[in-house]
Amino acid sequence: MEKKISIAIDGPSGAGKSTIARRLAKELGYYYVDTGAIYRTVAYFFDLWGIAPKDLDGISRYIDELTVDIVYDDDGLQHMLMNGMDVTEDIRTQDIAQKASLISAYEIVREMLLDMQRDVARKHNVIMDGRDIGTVVLPKATVKIFLTASAEERARRRTEELLAKGQKAQYQTVLAQIRQRDDQDIHRKAAPLKMARDSVKVDTTGMDIDAVVAEIRRIVEEKTGK
Ligand code: C5P
Repeated sequence: MEKKISIAIDGPSGAGKSTIARRLAKELGYYYVDTGAIYRTVAYFFDLWGIAPKDLDGISRYIDELTVDIVYDDDGLQHMLMNGMDVTEDIRTQDIAQKASLISAYEIVREMLLDMQRDVARKHNVIMDGRDIGTVVLPKATVKIFLTASAEERARRRTEELLAKGQKAQYQTVLAQIRQRDDQDIHRKAAPLKMARDSVKVDTTGMDIDAVVAEIRRIVEEKTGK
């Protein structure tokens, strides 16, 4: 099989990873893998079962009852299946995001999800976004980007996004949640959020989407000639 190209985009919550990765995937004709959605699916499963994110015993006991699958529809959009049920929309809440951040700190959860992520990259050219793609999941990724922005800017964007979707959102609350998630994601022992040594940092504070996409395309072109 011909060697596939993989672009890893890591960074904190709300840095614009998914918006940018989705656009780039479309432009380059690659698969977009949103790995946060995988952790959200796990969090959603335990939420349905009434198992608290801090209850590691409960999680360890029931984790074998869960199967997670990624499938792509005809438009190339990623869908998340939890035991065969499409939960793509159900997992997009702030509550599930917070729970995913706690649950994703467990080694047992991360281990279970590692192969499925690597598998997609083995079969397809991918743009994969997350927290540990360049450091753990695809340490040999063709291109590694670390996308970041100030917490205030990320909270502003996330608030607008939630309001646009008709969800309730207050800037100060969203900012506090973003800071809390940053703290949890950076300070956990298993696969913490950190920049890979060979990653290129792009700070998107004050940049619009077009400018960020153009900058990343430039970096990708420099590394791959494409
Ligand atoms: O990216 P998103 O906000 O959907 O991710 C939800 C949570 O899943 C993050 O806060 C993070 O704790 C966890 N996550 C992770 N590793 C990844 C992607 C997401 O630990 N590769």
